[in-house]
Amino acid sequence: MTKIFHYYFIFILFLQSTNVLGIQPSNDYKNILYINSYHIGYPWTDEVTEGLTSVFDTTKGINYYTEFMDTKRFMDNHTFTNFYETISKKYQTINFDIIIALDNYAVDFYLSFKDSSIFKNKPFVFAGITNIVDYNFKDINAYGVMENRGLNQLFYSMHRLFPQRDNVYFFMTSSKTDSIYRKIIKSFANEYNLGKYHNITNLSNDSIISFLKSLGDRDMAYLFNTNYDNTGAYKPYYNIFDHIHSPLNIPVFSNIHKGIEGITGGNEKKGINQGNMLAQIAIKLLNGEIIKTRRISPDIELTYNYRELKRFNVDLDLLPRDAVIVNRPETILSQFKQLFYVNLLFILASIAIIIILILSNTNLRKYRTKLEDARDNALQSESIKSSFIANISHEIRTPLNAIIGFSDILLIENKDEALRDYVKHIHKSSQILVRLVNDVLDLSLIDANEIKLNYSMVHLPSFMDELIQRNQVQLEQSEKTKLRLKLRIPENNPEELYTDQLRLNQVIQNLISNAIKYSEKGTITLSYQFLKKEDIQELTTASSLKLSHSQYCIISVKDYGIGIPQNLKNFVFERFRRLDQVYLGHHGGVGLGLNISKSIINIMGGEIWFTSEHGKGSVFSFILPHIPTET
Ligand code: ADP
Repeated sequence: MTKIFHYYFIFILFLQSTNVLGIQPSNDYKNILYINSYHIGYPWTDEVTEGLTSVFDTTKGINYYTEFMDTKRFMDNHTFTNFYETISKKYQTINFDIIIALDNYAVDFYLSFKDSSIFKNKPFVFAGITNIVDYNFKDINAYGVMENRGLNQLFYSMHRLFPQRDNVYFFMTSSKTDSIYRKIIKSFANEYNLGKYHNITNLSNDSIISFLKSLGDRDMAYLFNTNYDNTGAYKPYYNIFDHIHSPLNIPVFSNIHKGIEGITGGNEKKGINQGNMLAQIAIKLLNGEIIKTRRISPDIELTYNYRELKRFNVDLDLLPRDAVIVNRPETILSQFKQLFYVNLLFILASIAIIIILILSNTNLRKYRTKLEDARDNALQSESIKSSFIANISHEIRTPLNAIIGFSDILLIENKDEALRDYVKHIHKSSQILVRLVNDVLDLSLIDANEIKLNYSMVHLPSFMDELIQRNQVQLEQSEKTKLRLKLRIPENNPEELYTDQLRLNQVIQNLISNAIKYSEKGTITLSYQFLKKEDIQELTTASSLKLSHSQYCIISVKDYGIGIPQNLKNFVFERFRRLDQVYLGHHGGVGLGLNISKSIINIMGGEIWFTSEHGKGSVFSFILPHIPTET
């Protein structure tokens, strides 16, 4: 049993040593430690961090850890050891693949502990140091983005822009970085001997302000990095401008300044750019790529404030070739440029609209031709329909006439009362049918514009008298015993009218039939009168007529019937409109008579209208032009 246990134990050890059980999880992530010399809120290093993390955040498989040394505020002999203790405890379980250090203190710290377990043999990437010669990177796999603040170029340009100002005051703190720059500036001053350089260190904000205010025509100033303000907070130098309310007599330059009112120009750092570069070097190293150039330099950017340059009457041609000018007002040229673009846009929009119009016009033309074709087809089919109706009406009328004729004969010859009754029905129905067919035929002729007029001299008194007589016979045969018919012939009036007798008969007959149909009692009067154009115009609706003849004959049929209610008056002449169905029982008819009469009168050059009072009666009148005959 103990033997079995022994083998089992050996087997487990074997599995563990070969990692067959997978007890040690493999970590695909690469770990990066990024050490920042300063604190969050320090402008330049914040920018570098932003540039760095923006690349790491979008790269797969990277874990990065950030540590801030905060050396601007807390720096003494114990800072490094304390910091090392903290991070070595914090990261004891993490094996870093790369160490990144930003600015001098972080680089110094790394070098102080380069043999520690965290840093030993780890590729090292740094940024923010200018004094590279002071560093010993021997035996260290170190890659750097060089701090190139373009100080030399800036000082050259300061002297070029302000040659008479040979006193340069540069303001700094006593921090390590600042002291390195102090050296650089000193060596520049010695080498080129362009002016006197005065180093002002560790002044309070108030003292700096009064110092700057005391400077004169031969002076200018350079503010480096940051300073403690009156509350003890570490702030960029430009914050002192919040407390300077009138413009200084001297141009002031700085390395943190862009767009700040009161500062004439400076060497702007591109922190984000440097951060990107750092991250890219780190990623290449992690991927095992070989990097030939171990030190790379970012571009520098000299920037100048247009308003300040103008205030000191500086000739802009003296600026460095790549200078960036901020706060420059829009020039007329650039305004013109904008105007030009606006105009260009307008012109393009107009061209587009014109093209659309042309296209839609061709479309419109197409649609118009299509519509015209459709209209022609419709007209053609309309005329086919009309001639069809005309033909069919004619064909119906012929047998109907035979029915009416033979039923007439039957009525005369047959004495059998019961049979006579049937024949009367046949006769009456056939007459209604004939009227209907005639109306439909007229309608189709009117629509096809094929009404043909046969003009002759009509002797009105006899013609009308005959009409009345005929209707009188009809009336006597009907049940309307209380109705009378009367003809009124005017005195001293012409008696003849040159017109189409059949059509005149049709219209008057229609009016009389209606008067009989829509009246129960009273006298229906047919009358005529010849009137001058001027007199016609005084008559109701006819006044809107364009009367081209000098004389007209007005013919009226007056009844004392049911009349027409005000709200229905507009529909009287409409086709198939039967008002009585709405307001009074059924009187027979299909609602075509007045519409046809109106069309006929209009074709004859006249007009028809009516006046009516509901419940009291109506007067239907029409006029026809009178063409007097020469006697
Ligand atoms: P219908 O065949 O119905 O008589 P009309 O075209 O002759 O058709 O007349 C149209 C409508 O005008 C009639 O239905 C009727 O309501 C009204 N109307 C015509 N003449 C008179 C009248 N003399 N008195 C009252 N209403 C009339």
